[in-house]
Amino acid sequence: MEKKEKVVPPSPPRVIRDETTGNAYRRVGFLGEGGFARVWEVTTIHGERKAVKVVNKDSIKSKKNKTKLWAEIKLHQMLTHPNIVTFEDCFEDDENVYMMLELCENGSLMDLLRKRRRYTEPEARVILVQLIAACQYMHQTNVIHRDLKLGNLFLDDQMNVKVGDFGLAALIEKPGDRKKTICGTPNYIAPEVLFDTVNGHSFEVDIWSVGVILYTLLIGKPPFQTKDVKAIYKRIKENRYDFPADKEISASAQDLITSILNPEPDKRPSLDAILRHSWFHDGPFPPFVPVTAHDSAPDFR
Ligand code: ADP
Repeated sequence: MEKKEKVVPPSPPRVIRDETTGNAYRRVGFLGEGGFARVWEVTTIHGERKAVKVVNKDSIKSKKNKTKLWAEIKLHQMLTHPNIVTFEDCFEDDENVYMMLELCENGSLMDLLRKRRRYTEPEARVILVQLIAACQYMHQTNVIHRDLKLGNLFLDDQMNVKVGDFGLAALIEKPGDRKKTICGTPNYIAPEVLFDTVNGHSFEVDIWSVGVILYTLLIGKPPFQTKDVKAIYKRIKENRYDFPADKEISASAQDLITSILNPEPDKRPSLDAILRHSWFHDGPFPPFVPVTAHDSAPDFR
C-alpha cells in the first residue's frame, strides 16, 4: 500500500482576527506541531505575547476528530491553575479553529532534556511538586490528563512548570466511573490502560506517568524504552526496568519511583503520599529552577 503523504495545511493569516470580539493577533513565530495542531507565537495590539494552537478544519471533518477537539477545548477551558497552561480564548474562521493559550517561552521539559541529557535531583524535586500540584487540581476537578510526559510539560518565562495538551484528557462524570479507551504515549502508558480492558482505568494512570517522568528526568530516558512499541508494552506488562549503576540515583529516589511504578493501580501512592516521601527532604530543594538550567546543571549546594 502506498504511504499517504502528510498534507501540510496552509499557515494561518499573518494577522489572526477574532470576528466576535474584534481582537487581532499578529503571528510572529512558529513554536511547534503535534498530532493535528500547529502552534505559533502571536502578539496582541498591546504587545502581549501569547501562543495560539491552530487546528485546520480539514483535519476535523470526521465526527471522531471533531468530538476529540471539542472535548479538549471543553476540558482545558474548565481548568485554571498556576501549573496548567492557561486557556484564554477560542474562536474560528472559515479555515481554522484557534485556541489562544498562555505562552510558555522556555519550551517543554523534553527540549531541556535533549540539551542537558538528564536533570539533577534538586531540579527534579522542584518540577515534581509543581507537576503534582497540577495533578491534584485536575483530579479534584475530575479530569484525568492521560498523556502526561516531558513533551507536554511546558516552562514559562520564570521556569514554572505548566501542564499542557489536553487532547487525551477525560472527565470522570460519575464517582467510580472507569475509562476503557486505549490512549497515551507508549513509553508513559500505564499497564492497566493496555491490559485491563475489563475494569478500565482512572486517575491512577496519571500517577503512573508521574513515576515515568521522574525516572526519565533523573536517568535521561524512559524506564521501558526500547526499539519497538510492542517490546515497550511487553516490558510494561512485565514491569521490567532498572536503575543503571553509572547514573548514581539516590536510594530514596529509586524507592519513590519503584513505589509509583506499581503494576496494580490501587497500590500506587496517592499524590499526597508522593509529596510526603523522604526523597523530597534528602537533599537540596531549591525554590525554583533558574533559566540557566537550559545550558548547564545549576549548583544548589
Ligand atoms: P498536539 O495536541 O497536536 O500534540 P501540543 O499542544 O503538544 O499539540 O503542541 C505542539 C507543540 O507546540 C509543542 O510540542 C510545543 O513545542 C508547542 N507549544 C504548545 N503549546 C505551547 C505553549 N503554550 N507555549 C509554547 N509552545 C507551545
